[in-house]
Amino acid sequence: MTRETLKRDVVIIGSGPAGLTAAIYAARADLKPLVIEGPQPGGQLTITTEVENYPGFSKGIQGPELMEEFRHQAARFGTEFLVTWINKVDLSERPFTVETDDHIVKAKTLIIASGASAKWLGIPGEAPAPHGLGGLGVSACATCDGFFFKGKPIVVVGGGDTAMEEATFLTRYASRVTIIHRRNTLRASKIMQEKAFQNEKIDFLWDTGVEEIIGAPETGVTGVRLKNLETGEEKIFPCEGVFVAIGHKPNTDMFKGQLEMDEVGYLKTAGNTMATNIPGVFACGDVQDSFYRQAVTAAGTGCMAAIDAERFLDHLPVEMPGGKEMTIEGEIITADHKAIITPEGEIVLNEPDNVPHSNSDAPVPPFQTDGDANSASATDV
Ligand SMILES: Cc1cc2nc3c(=O)[nH]c(=O)nc-3n(C[C@H](O)[C@H](O)[C@H](O)COP(=O)(O)OP(=O)(O)OC[C@H]3O[C@@H](n4cnc5c(N)ncnc54)[C@H](O)[C@@H]3O)c2cc1C
Repeated sequence: MTRETLKRDVVIIGSGPAGLTAAIYAARADLKPLVIEGPQPGGQLTITTEVENYPGFSKGIQGPELMEEFRHQAARFGTEFLVTWINKVDLSERPFTVETDDHIVKAKTLIIASGASAKWLGIPGEAPAPHGLGGLGVSACATCDGFFFKGKPIVVVGGGDTAMEEATFLTRYASRVTIIHRRNTLRASKIMQEKAFQNEKIDFLWDTGVEEIIGAPETGVTGVRLKNLETGEEKIFPCEGVFVAIGHKPNTDMFKGQLEMDEVGYLKTAGNTMATNIPGVFACGDVQDSFYRQAVTAAGTGCMAAIDAERFLDHLPVEMPGGKEMTIEGEIITADHKAIITPEGEIVLNEPDNVPHSNSDAPVPPFQTDGDANSASATDV
C-alpha cells in the first residue's frame, strides 16, 4: 500500500499537555500544526482521576476531561490531528521525515512531546481502573496524588533516589510510609538515604517483593501481598495507597543516534529554549524533563517550543518571484543559491565560511544547489 505524503510547517509528536499546548500556540500563530497523537491520545492525565493542582480549576477536574478541553482548544484554532503514532524519524535533513503506518510526513519544524512513561511492576491490581486499582490508590506520582492520602498508611516501592524522595514527601500526608525494597541495601544517594532513615514516619521492609495489590473499586487499595525473597514467606500487608517509584522511561527510542539525550534517554534542550541539538527540532514536556514532571510544567514548555518553532520559521528564507529567496534580515539568496546579497548590497558567496547572518542567532538552513544558475548582482534584487 502506498503511503500518503503530507507536508507541514509544524508537526507535533504527542497529544499530552505539552503537545496540545504547543498546538494551541502554533495554531493561533496560523501555522496549522499537525499533531500526531500517539498510542495514548491525551497523554498520561487520561489515566488519572482528579487533578487538583492544574491552575484555573479551583474545584479540581478529572484528568480525561482536562485533556478534552486542551484538545478542543487546539482544534478551535485549526490544529489537525492524526490518530496514529510515529515508528520512524529521519532528522538528517530538513524537511524532517516522520513515518507512520499510513503516512510519510515532511516537517519544516518538529516539536517532540512524546512524554515519559512511569515504569510499573507488572503485578495484578496495578493497572488503571477499571482493570485494576490505578487511580484508586495506586499511583506513580507523589506530587500529583500525595494529598489524597492524608492520615492513611501507604507503601512506596523502590530503592533509588525517586523512591526516597517520594517517600519523604509523602510523610507530609500519610500516617506511615513503608518503603518496600527487593534488596537489603538502597541504590539511592547517601544523602537521600539518610533523610529517609532519619524520618520517624518511614519504615523499611527489606528483601521483599510486591506480588499483588489488593482492594476493590468500592474500597480502593486495602493492602499488598508481599513475598520475602530470602525465605519465600508470603504475607498480606495492610495499606491504603501504593506508590510505585522505580523510575521513568522517556519515549525517545526512535530518536537514538539522532538527538542528544542523557544517560536515561531524556532529550537535551539548550539553555532557555526548547531547542535540541538539531536546528528546527524542539522538545517539550516530560520527554525532556526528568525533574518536575507536572502537567503545568509540560504545558509551559509546550508554549515555549511553539514560540521557538515560530521564530525558527520566521528566520527561514521566503521564496520570491523569479526563484530568489529573502531572509527576515533582508538578505537575498539568489535563485541558484550560490550567493547572498546583504541589505547593504554586498554580494557574499553562499559557502559555509562566508554566510553573513551576523545579526541573527538563527541557524542557517541547508541550501541545495539545483542548477539553473542566475548571475548574482546587487541590481538583480
Ligand atoms: C497517574 C498519573 C497521575 C498524574 N497526576 C498529575 C496531577 O494530578 N497533576 C500534574 O500536574 N501532573 C500529573 N501527572 C503527571 C502528568 O500527567 C505529566 O507530567 C504530563 O502528562 C506530561 O505531559 P507531556 O505532554 O509531556 O507527556 P504525556 O502526557 O506523557 O503525553 C505523551 C504523548 O506522546 C505520545 N507518544 C508517545 N510515543 C509516541 C510515538 N511514538 N508517536 C507519537 N506519539 C507518541 C502519547 O500518545 C501521548 O499523547 C500524573 C501522571 C500520572 C501517570
